[in-house]
Amino acid sequence: MNIGVISGDGIGPEVVREAKKVLDACSEKYGFEINYTDIMMGGCSIDKYGVPLTDEAIEAAKKSDAVLMGSIGGNTATSPWYKLPADKRPEAGLLKIRKALNLFANLRPSVLYNELKDACPLRKETADKGFDMIIMRELTGGLYFGERYTKEINGVNTAVDTLTYSEEEIRRAAKKAFEIASKRRKKVTSVDKANVLDSSRLWRRITEEVARDYPDVTLEHMLVDNAAMQLVKDPAQFDVIFTENMFGDILSDEAAQITGSIGMLSSASLNDTKFGLYEPSGGSAPDIAGKNIANPIATILSAAMMLKFTFDMDDVASRIEDAVKQVLKEGYRTVDIMSEGMKQVSTGEMGSLIADRV
Ligand code: NAD
Repeated sequence: MNIGVISGDGIGPEVVREAKKVLDACSEKYGFEINYTDIMMGGCSIDKYGVPLTDEAIEAAKKSDAVLMGSIGGNTATSPWYKLPADKRPEAGLLKIRKALNLFANLRPSVLYNELKDACPLRKETADKGFDMIIMRELTGGLYFGERYTKEINGVNTAVDTLTYSEEEIRRAAKKAFEIASKRRKKVTSVDKANVLDSSRLWRRITEEVARDYPDVTLEHMLVDNAAMQLVKDPAQFDVIFTENMFGDILSDEAAQITGSIGMLSSASLNDTKFGLYEPSGGSAPDIAGKNIANPIATILSAAMMLKFTFDMDDVASRIEDAVKQVLKEGYRTVDIMSEGMKQVSTGEMGSLIADRV
């Protein structure tokens, strides 16, 4: 396996180190070889090269089978990186790499672990049912990429944003959603606003067409306003939520919040090959960087997603997920998920515990 590694800034290097520890334990146990290539992106690249992502770094990412990333960026109020023009700041590197690698599908699992139910802000009876879903958001089309302008029309300032989707963009994303669902509980909930928007009506039609190629996967449609309610009312009903860029942006944060623990949530951005960029859902957490207290589980679970989606090693990925559950069951917690009666451990200790259980 050729894995590009973007450690990045803040807690990035600390959590990536632990994910590598777990991957190395897997490689030893299951007998596969991993070659890691370090790739600079974000603030560390600005400090060294003056830009958040060099062309060489993009080439190195392209040559990899997958990229494992920590996080990039610093304290947006105090870091000198944020005195630079927008296209030279750390986050510009992230947008650039997503574009360069054509990463059009973003996956964010939202899982409520039995052991962390107390952190769930939902009603007890809802939390007790648990939930395990993936939000699959289209990442390179829709409102965020359409033509936009503000101009004076008849003496009145008027702003215009355009929401465009072609059937090809919908089809390739829908295929990914069905492929992912067929590896899980075989249900896709396509979320749209088809009672109002033309783009949503096309979304629905193409998604139904794609569904015919996946007869073992159930497709249902849901309007986005209802989906926002259902997420807090009955999240257990969802397996894969498939939706366009802006709806997914909003719903995936809602789905993250109802787990109550950002340090546990992984994510993947995929293109139409097996390549993927895998990273925790959270940011670089500059407030706790360098203290060896960050929760590495989101990054470790991102590495598990990499094994599943890029390398088709579902059994090894499950092994990592089970090791995480085991360590939680044994009562080990980093400070962000700590509760009474549990054993508090550092970033490094948590990584070692999970690697041991693998
Ligand atoms: P953040 O996610 O970094 O931090 C929010 C809060 O969550 C903080 O209190 C932090 O300590 C905590 N937290 C986050 N991850 C944690 C972990 N693994 N373990 C324990 N606690 C954790 O969000 P922010 O403060 O809004 O952003 C900080 C920087 O991260 C900014 O520069 C932002 O642009 C960047 N950022 C990067 C990415 C990315 O690399 N993909 C994503 C989001 C934000």
